[in-house]
Amino acid sequence: MSSTSPQTAQRIPNSPLRGEFGSVSPAVSRRLAQIPDLYRATYLKALSGSKTAAVKAQCLECVGWQRAEVTRCTDDGCPLFNVRPYQKKSPRRGESPGACNARSCDRGTSDK
Ligand code: SF4
Repeated sequence: MSSTSPQTAQRIPNSPLRGEFGSVSPAVSRRLAQIPDLYRATYLKALSGSKTAAVKAQCLECVGWQRAEVTRCTDDGCPLFNVRPYQKKSPRRGESPGACNARSCDRGTSDK
């Protein structure tokens, strides 16, 4: 039995997601209407139980669905800060920022 009753469920109108995700509640439908097409699948994946997608969707929504703004987030008091998506990769241990350890790279490393 579905957790959404037939009275509250509705199809996503005129959406490429229609049929793919089945019926959604009016609240989900209203929210989907405000989410850019690019991120609707992430939101729906979050609703289906993916914690990774939930963090991604929450962060994207927090900054108006601008991916670069998640990268630039400075709110280290937010409980999602350390697990937010789109973080710049920090240098691995023993690597200095900007150094390149690839043999073919002529930028070299800091310890040569
Ligand atoms: S980590 Fe930053 S972007 Fe993500 S929810 Fe928190 S404040 Fe918003």
